[in-house]
Amino acid sequence: MNEKARMVVLARRPGSNISVDDFAVEEHSLPEPAEGQVRVRNRYISVDPYMRLALSDRNGVGAAKPVGEAMTGGAVGIVEVSRAAALPVGTMVTSQFGWRDRFVADAAAVQAVAADVGRPSWYLGILGLTGLTAYTGIEYILEPKAGETVFVSGAAGAVGSVAAQLAKQRGCRVIGTAGTDEKLAWLKEVLHLDAAANYATTDLTAFLAKECPAGIDHYFDNVGGPTLDAAITAMKPKGRIVVCGAISQYNTPNYCAGPGEFFKISEKGITIVGLNVGMWFDRGKEAFGDLARRLAAGELVWEETVVDGLSNAPHAFISLFSGQNRGKMVVAIDPAR
Ligand code: NAP
Repeated sequence: MNEKARMVVLARRPGSNISVDDFAVEEHSLPEPAEGQVRVRNRYISVDPYMRLALSDRNGVGAAKPVGEAMTGGAVGIVEVSRAAALPVGTMVTSQFGWRDRFVADAAAVQAVAADVGRPSWYLGILGLTGLTAYTGIEYILEPKAGETVFVSGAAGAVGSVAAQLAKQRGCRVIGTAGTDEKLAWLKEVLHLDAAANYATTDLTAFLAKECPAGIDHYFDNVGGPTLDAAITAMKPKGRIVVCGAISQYNTPNYCAGPGEFFKISEKGITIVGLNVGMWFDRGKEAFGDLARRLAAGELVWEETVVDGLSNAPHAFISLFSGQNRGKMVVAIDPAR
C-alpha cells in the first residue's frame, strides 16, 4: 500500500493582505523509492521572508509560483527508507522540497549533515542559509574594524541577530532596530548591543543622530523602507551599506522600490553592495566551520521561534511580517522534536 504524505500548496494568489486562506494542506500518495532514492521524514521546515516574493506576479525573481503548486524551501529530516548506499536509514539530511512532512527523492537531491552541533533545526538557520547570509554580510562584504559603528536593522531576527553578534565580536559599536520593546531589551541584555530602537515608535533619524553623532560606518539592511532612508542620512562619508533584505516592502506592489534619500549616496561617497547568499555558497564550508566553532565555544546566542505542525506553516510564515518571531522561525513537523 502506498505511503501517504502531506504538503502545503498555494491555494490562491495572495494580495497585500496575505492570509492563511491563501494556502491549503493536501494529502497525496508517495511512490516507493526506486534504486538510488530515499524516503525522508521531515523534522523541521523553514519559513523565510524571501518566499513571499515568489508568490507575487511582479516578483523580479522569475515566474510567480503557480496556484496549486507546493511551497518550496529548506527542510531538515531523517532518511526512513533508503535505496542509496551513501544515505543509510537514520541519516539526517537537508533538502529544498519545502513545506511537506515526507517525500521521496534521488539521493543526490538531498544533502547529508553531520548533525553534531546543536539541534537539527539549526541547519535551517545559523548553520544554513541564515548563518551564511549574516556571515557573508559582515565577514566578507562589510569587514568592519574594531571601534567602527555598525547599524543592523531587523536585529532581533534570524539574519540580523547573527550579523549584530558578529559585528560585536569584531570590536564594533553595534546599534540595532526591532519592532517591540521586548526585542529591544533582548538585544541589549542578551546580545549586548550598544543601543537599540523600536522602529515602529521611534524617529530613527533623530535616534541615529543622537546615538551616532559622528555617523555610521556600516549599515546591514534587512528591512529597506524608511529605516534605509534614516540610515543613509546617518552614514559617514565613505560609509558602506550591504543590502540584504527589504522586508518592509515585500507585501507592497513595488517591493524593489529604492530609498527616497538616494542621491545622498553620491554626496557622501557611500558604497552600496548587494548581498545574494546564493552567490556565496563557495564560502559555506569556511563560514559554517567558523560559526559551528563559535557556537560550540558559547560565543554566539542562537534563538529560534518554533511553531508546531505542518498545517501551521502558513501561519508561521505570515507571522514573519508582523514580527512574531525572535531569531529564526521554524516549523516542527515531528512534535517530539
Ligand atoms: P527574520 O528577520 O527572522 O524575520 C523577519 C523580521 O522582519 C520579523 O521578525 C520582523 O521583526 C521584521 N519585520 C517585519 N515587517 C517589518 C517591517 N515592515 N519593517 C521592519 N521590520 C519588519 O527573517 P530573516 O530570515 O532573518 O531575513 C531577514 C531579511 O534578510 C529579510 O529581508 C530577508 O528577505 C533577507 N534575507 C536575504 C538574503 C539574501 O541572500 N539577500 C538571505 C536571507 C535573508 P520586527 O519585530 O523587528 O518587526
